[in-house]
Amino acid sequence: EDGRTKKPSWLRVKLPVGKDYKNVRDIVDKHNLHTICQSGNCPNMGECWGAGTATFMILGNVCTRSCTFCAVATGRPPEYDDAEPKRVAEAITKMKVKHAVITSVNRDELKDRGAEIWYQTVKLTKELSPSTTIETLIPDVKGTWSALERMVEGGQEVVSHNMETVESLYRRVRPQAKYARSLEQIRRTKELGMRTKTGIMLGLGEKPEEVLKAIDDLAANGCDILTLGQYLQPTRRHHEVIEFITPEMFQYYKEEGERRGIKYVESGPLVRSSYHAERHVNV
Ligand code: SF4
Ligand code: SF4
Repeated sequence: EDGRTKKPSWLRVKLPVGKDYKNVRDIVDKHNLHTICQSGNCPNMGECWGAGTATFMILGNVCTRSCTFCAVATGRPPEYDDAEPKRVAEAITKMKVKHAVITSVNRDELKDRGAEIWYQTVKLTKELSPSTTIETLIPDVKGTWSALERMVEGGQEVVSHNMETVESLYRRVRPQAKYARSLEQIRRTKELGMRTKTGIMLGLGEKPEEVLKAIDDLAANGCDILTLGQYLQPTRRHHEVIEFITPEMFQYYKEEGERRGIKYVESGPLVRSSYHAERHVNV
């Protein structure tokens, strides 16, 4: 084993345990829901689930895309389930979630990119649990801007769309996505009056000046909140971890990001796009 694949001490975390964790898991299982926490093997599960927070994944667990960092299965998804918005809204209500993060796979085969299910899920959750604040981490609508409009009008407080990496790595990391198109999606989301957010993973082989360029592009396109975290390889078949970024470097990017015009930057080795998401509602 070489130094690159051995995790440094700052990435070792506690295993999920405890009563609250089990309670969340039971509700998730009973409602037949998918969470990014589980499918992404997120290192923060103990902390988030123990606090009654989870990131729900709607529109199934098969994705039309094949991002090389992602553990979600690629393929042709089965028909979506019209009853899913209700199940998600009920689970969020039962879990007494204060802040819910909802995300989805890409459904490029659907004309509306899944926008109607997105809209219904947010609207029903707000109806059943009005005090719950919601962040929607939406997919790339591939330039179907009417789908973007529908996705963001259910009443959510934050709309995020993850850039995931710097421009030069798109072909290798997000082969079906385009850097400029994702930036445009963020700009249009801002123009629709929303609080905007994005996430970038570090350690995929990007150079520091490329990270700073992405930060400048995001600030210029109206991005309010940025999360920066260490990429971890879900399995050996996924994109390799090229580098473990030090906590000091993460701190440097936070300061640079806020200096360059992003309102709030959450930056650290264990940061995921939904980590501390409840703090982003008031940015
Ligand atoms: Fe789930 Fe996000 Fe928390 Fe990870 S950081 S456990 S994905 S809510
Ligand atoms: Fe994974 Fe999202 Fe990429 Fe699909 S679009 S492969 S769910 S990161």
